[in-house]
Amino acid sequence: MNMSLKLNSEIRYIKGVGPSTAEKLNRLGIEIVEDLIYYFPRDYEDRRNLKTLAETDEGEKATFHFKVIDQGYIRFNGRNHPKIKVTDKTGIAYLYCFNRNYLKDILVPGTSFYLIGKYSLKGRYPIFSSFNYELDDNNAKLGIIPVYRLTSGISQNLLRKIIKTVLDSLSDKLKEEIPEFIRKGYKIPPRGEIIKRIHFPPSQRELRRMREAYSYQEFFKYQLIVAMAKSKNKEIKKNRIKSSGELREKFLKKLPFKLTNAQNRVLSEIDRDLDSPAPMNRLIQGDVGSGKTIVSVFAALKALERNEQVAFMAPTEILARQHYNSLKEYLSDLNVKIEFLSSSVKGVKRKELVLKLLKGDVDIIVGTHALFSDDVEFRNLSLVIIDEQQKFGVLQRGKLRQKGKHTDCLVMSATPIPRTLSMTLYGDLDVSIIDEMPQGRIGTETHIVKQAEINKVYDFVKKEVSEGRQAYFIYPVIEESAVLDVKNATESFEYLNNEIFSEFNVALLHGRMSEEEKDKIMQEFKDRKYDILVSTTVVEVGVDIPNATVMVIEQAERFGLSNIHQLRGRIGRGKYKSYCFLIPDKSAGREAFNRLMILKHTNDGFKIAEWDLKLRGPGDIIGKKQAGLPSFIIDDIDINTKLIYRAQKDARKFVNGEIGIEKERELFLNSFIQSESYKRASLYFGG
Ligand code: ADP
Ligand code: MG
Repeated sequence: MNMSLKLNSEIRYIKGVGPSTAEKLNRLGIEIVEDLIYYFPRDYEDRRNLKTLAETDEGEKATFHFKVIDQGYIRFNGRNHPKIKVTDKTGIAYLYCFNRNYLKDILVPGTSFYLIGKYSLKGRYPIFSSFNYELDDNNAKLGIIPVYRLTSGISQNLLRKIIKTVLDSLSDKLKEEIPEFIRKGYKIPPRGEIIKRIHFPPSQRELRRMREAYSYQEFFKYQLIVAMAKSKNKEIKKNRIKSSGELREKFLKKLPFKLTNAQNRVLSEIDRDLDSPAPMNRLIQGDVGSGKTIVSVFAALKALERNEQVAFMAPTEILARQHYNSLKEYLSDLNVKIEFLSSSVKGVKRKELVLKLLKGDVDIIVGTHALFSDDVEFRNLSLVIIDEQQKFGVLQRGKLRQKGKHTDCLVMSATPIPRTLSMTLYGDLDVSIIDEMPQGRIGTETHIVKQAEINKVYDFVKKEVSEGRQAYFIYPVIEESAVLDVKNATESFEYLNNEIFSEFNVALLHGRMSEEEKDKIMQEFKDRKYDILVSTTVVEVGVDIPNATVMVIEQAERFGLSNIHQLRGRIGRGKYKSYCFLIPDKSAGREAFNRLMILKHTNDGFKIAEWDLKLRGPGDIIGKKQAGLPSFIIDDIDINTKLIYRAQKDARKFVNGEIGIEKERELFLNSFIQSESYKRASLYFGG
């Protein structure tokens, strides 16, 4: 069976993987053989130095080699648990196997095995009560052992064995993904070899080297995409008609406030782009509520004055509708034709709309991914505006832009990204920053509250809700387990709904719900059908509910600071003063408390992002899961700056023909843009 195993085979075809194991692996996102290859260890255990009982002290973690002498029982909590007597050359020890009854069938007398753990002394004897073990059979490994993220029913040993099987039979089939002369120039081993050694590293040094090699390749691929896009862009001469300024003038007159200095500065950067021949490719970064949308409206008006069409895209239906409504309001009396498109617009209505777009009877179309659809065509699309950029990748942006000729692109993001990171993530975009908030915001107070005082918070919420306001309760996404994650929010929901807020309407929202379900609940919350929304971090994206004034974030120590900052941006959006309560878990230490204090004292998203980067690494800011990159790349992104620069330089030179052979370059680039890795790389980074 294994002989015909392919990268895209379903995992149930792997030797030793039955349907039930396959199903469990699916829960980890592993569906095809290739997924296993890229399922990198989350950690390692260094088992190279065997120790003996005599050599070690109480509490010292080590690897031992034992033989089972005898089995017995120990009574604890009214139950029997196996007590296993073992020996090495230097002494005797006991293993207390609490809640691990199965061990009595595995560690039978005479069995040799390795044990990883530490003992405590009880009387004369060392006792191991929590430990890992590995049978001393042919598969036992004493090197540096990978530790994977697991799900119930899958053991480390099983997963290691499966991954090893797959790598042994397929690692030499992995295609190279960077040009050969570059790979060899840096003495980088074949791709399969790199991946194999990341899973099963022969030494710590080699592990570091292989991670670097792997990271470089990923950076190179992404920078290649960026360099290709940039070099294409440079050649373009976009025809720029003079704009009358008439619409903007009208709009300015209507506007009930003055633009901030930062908004004006960013607008002039945009205008420079919109008047130069190369298409615009710009990212506006600014905190939630800093006024990015208004700036993008000014950009849109310029296109309209030139008789060109604008597409405005948001990641979800509810956000798109929100934008649609506010754009309609902003632009009423300006005689601008605005329409809405999402997958919920169907049938005749959709056909009519598509036709109008094609004829040029629509000036601005606001919508979701539906705008990508093949049947959606424009008369003269000239500007694409994308909100909440982190949801879209480079390729997706490209797809929408291709619906026009040399389309300008303006991306808005509320995730402040420190400079070191933005180059990796948005290498193809010029960046403008709105670093000033409009005057006169009532704002949000942030408090850090001990778990023991949570009742005071409940009382406060009751008071606010009784006065007609609404509240969010937020629970962390538990990375290790999607199941736990839902449980966390679900249990809290039950508790809050039944025990604490039984006289109010409470709703639950979590990440496992479908896009439609989530939209529906958000919409209902917005319509005040509920007073309280219990949610995992899915509310993060910019739904505007000005009536919500309280946010309670439990287990707050599990969140990144930027993450919390984004979340609290959901409140304080109306005319009411708002309150954010951060409640660390009982188990959280002083350190966590201090970290959260940063949020009490500053409201500047960029400063907060920098703290995050310092304290927890970049994973929090860009979202590990979302980025899809192996976490070792993300965790080391700061250290990897040098690699990123090198990859960028190499990629540019390669695309511009300064290195390599013309013919080989063409061949490589042609196959590169067809490849899965191209798609993957562009999703990783742009998305
Ligand atoms: P963002 O898109 O950055 O989250 P918006 O553009 O949606 O921010 O603006 C948030 C709110 O602030 C909107 O109600 C908007 O009308 C208002 N606003 C924008 N710019 C200003 C300004 N310069 N002065 C006062 N209010 C502003
Ligand atoms: Mg916004």
